[in-house]
Amino acid sequence: MIYRNFSLKQYNTFGLDYRTECFISIKSEDDLINYIAEGQKFPLPWLILGGGSNILFTEDFPGTILHPENEDINIEERTSDHVIVSVGAGTNWDRFVEWCVDNDLGGTENLSLIPGNSGAVAVQNIGAYGVEVKDIIHKVKAINLHTGKEKSFSNEECRFGYRDSIFKHEEKGNYLITRSYYKLNIRHIYSLNYGSLEEEVKRLGAKNLRNIRQAVINIRQSKLPDPGLIGNAGSFFKNPVVSNQMAEELKNKYQHMPMFEDPSGNKKLAAGWLIEQCGWKGKRIGDTGVHEKQALVIVNYGKATGKQIYDLSESVKKSVFEKFGIALEREVELVGAI
Ligand SMILES: Cc1cc2nc3c(=O)[nH]c(=O)nc-3n(C[C@H](O)[C@H](O)[C@H](O)COP(=O)(O)OP(=O)(O)OC[C@H]3O[C@@H](n4cnc5c(N)ncnc54)[C@H](O)[C@@H]3O)c2cc1C
Repeated sequence: MIYRNFSLKQYNTFGLDYRTECFISIKSEDDLINYIAEGQKFPLPWLILGGGSNILFTEDFPGTILHPENEDINIEERTSDHVIVSVGAGTNWDRFVEWCVDNDLGGTENLSLIPGNSGAVAVQNIGAYGVEVKDIIHKVKAINLHTGKEKSFSNEECRFGYRDSIFKHEEKGNYLITRSYYKLNIRHIYSLNYGSLEEEVKRLGAKNLRNIRQAVINIRQSKLPDPGLIGNAGSFFKNPVVSNQMAEELKNKYQHMPMFEDPSGNKKLAAGWLIEQCGWKGKRIGDTGVHEKQALVIVNYGKATGKQIYDLSESVKKSVFEKFGIALEREVELVGAI
């Protein structure tokens, strides 16, 4: 289906009422290939949009938005210890996590309640509670938006990093991911070392996929604003990774600064803590603000514009740099002029 001059209010979790020149809902891989063949009919630039939970629009979009809506989950292969499952890009991510738990397949449970659709999770390499989606992705299938040809990317070819993949670099805007394949465990390996997760699971009872999912949901709901009630895109910034030398200097100056080992061998800092130390937590400017429970989340109380949200984020960034000498990097993608 093709819509012209279409409102994006329901398609971005900041709830911003910008419009796009053209919006195409894509129900199948064949649909997409046909649209690409007729490409000249649809205004440029093209942007792929899933649930819009990691995007900040700052103005109307002058081109075409491609919105995958192929929703299906299929078991592709079963062995004695794992199952390969494929998921259509338009499937809501948390619906897929629930399906995995219902089918007693392990691997996604720590990633419960992350908003958005399955097509985007490999782009961002979503992560939460000590797990990243790269740990379970087997491969992704994508269609080249210039040629209409299909290509499979193995886990290695996706070049996953911290909230990062090849789809944010060399292949940015080149491929629409139509389907992802996950290797899920029949014999479960639980990852409970993050924060209060183990404690919450214990409170719920037995250690199993269902209770881990519920524990993650409980913790997330107690800390993060529901985008259905207050516009937001989750963590606005990435947690910065600094050299061990810089970490040591910071520790000498700020003894309570939280630090974690990063797989790179360096130290990861908590961006939320840095922002909080600069006095931003709970601060409101007009209709935008820094969330009262989680300083890493910037919110739209209702009538903020994308530019106002962006300006606030820049002020936050500036104070963190002035106080700690650390340049925060945005996790949320900016679409539009500033
Ligand atoms: C309350 C809240 C909590 C959150 N918590 C977490 C968290 O714990 N961990 C975490 O990692 N993230 C978190 N996020 C961020 C967000 O949910 C994830 O990044 C999610 O995967 C984005 O999915 P989406 O469908 O909304 O993507 P969108 O925002 O629509 O798109 C994000 C990017 O992916 C591209 N894209 C989308 N679909 C496709 C496709 N099919 N093919 C190719 N490119 C595509 C878009 O062009 C864009 O560049 C949170 C967000 C919110 C609002």
